[in-house]
Amino acid sequence: MLPTLSHDEILRYSRHLLIPEVGLEGQQKLKAASVLVIGTGGLGSPVALYLAAAGIGRIGLVDYDVVDFSNLQRQVIHGESTLGKLKVESARQRMLDINPDIQVDVYNEMFTSENAFRIADPYDIIIDGTDNFPTRYLTNDLCVLTGKPNVYGSIYRFDGQASVFNAGDDSPCYRCLFPEPPPPGLVPSCAEGGVLGILPGTIGTIQATEAIKLILGIGESLSGKLLLYSALDMSFDFVKLRKNPNCKVCGEHPEVTTLIDYEQFCGMPANDHDSGSAGDEWDISATELKARLDAGDALHLIDVREPHELAISRIPGADLIPLGQLAARMHELNSADEIVLFCKIGTRSVRALEVLASAGFRKIKNLDGGINAWAEEVDPSLPIY
Ligand SMILES: [Zn+2]
Repeated sequence: MLPTLSHDEILRYSRHLLIPEVGLEGQQKLKAASVLVIGTGGLGSPVALYLAAAGIGRIGLVDYDVVDFSNLQRQVIHGESTLGKLKVESARQRMLDINPDIQVDVYNEMFTSENAFRIADPYDIIIDGTDNFPTRYLTNDLCVLTGKPNVYGSIYRFDGQASVFNAGDDSPCYRCLFPEPPPPGLVPSCAEGGVLGILPGTIGTIQATEAIKLILGIGESLSGKLLLYSALDMSFDFVKLRKNPNCKVCGEHPEVTTLIDYEQFCGMPANDHDSGSAGDEWDISATELKARLDAGDALHLIDVREPHELAISRIPGADLIPLGQLAARMHELNSADEIVLFCKIGTRSVRALEVLASAGFRKIKNLDGGINAWAEEVDPSLPIY
């Protein structure tokens, strides 16, 4: 039995009710539906806003972060009035302002193998709005193991992807497409590489559209297709996907029959803003580095960021060797020197440290927290970005 609509709801959704493919029954289906949105960031913002406005009866939000100033360029569900607040609470407040007739459940916790079954249990559809590899594989495997559709989206700079995984018998999963995660450090996060603020709006609204089509059972879904979007070219390309019979989770002889440790599987943390650490033995704090420079210690500072980042902030005396050029320009370094590597937040410099360590360098350090930590602890005249 589908839930009925009040007169207020009929007026609210009148533009839906006028579409024959939706109609009164379709709107009742939306009201009866439940969708879990993992992440309330760039992708999760438009997803949650539009699902709320569309009248999805029950929406779950998972995030453990708080609203930060650097989020507002793209995470349009949050605002200055909710800076510092829990993202799930900030998002719920905005969604209930748009539509108080819906139920918004919040899970202020990291989405993990331990809690994923419990959190996802009440929902029909899962939308992955997190954009980091461990959570993406976790969400994929969870959806395969529980038989729930997984509405996928991914963004970087000007390019986005979207698909619908595990939506029926022949529907491939994310692992059918990408059996293994990329090597750690190969694919930079948006926190390191940046993202056009509008891009998650484009991809997130596509994810919300796909979820609504699944609920209504209309149109042709993105299942079996990978949408590739380029904002620069304004192009939408589609790649045909097939279910892989040898897929480790959805194939004929699955090896993955329960959730695993996805941070270990991917070799990276399940978030996109953790500052990098190379471990105590290799790390040097900004304060410690300043003290050593003041004491006259001969340290060779290597900035492994990209050239355009120098316009934002720089540490005097540092030489620029972008991470991608390090292997080819290693001859510029002397392994007898004490070398301190840094980037924006310490993730690229950890990779740089590994490159040098594997080439036999031993007197190398990683500036913990990068130039942002230097700006915070040592030189407040520098901006944090
Ligand atoms: Zn698969």
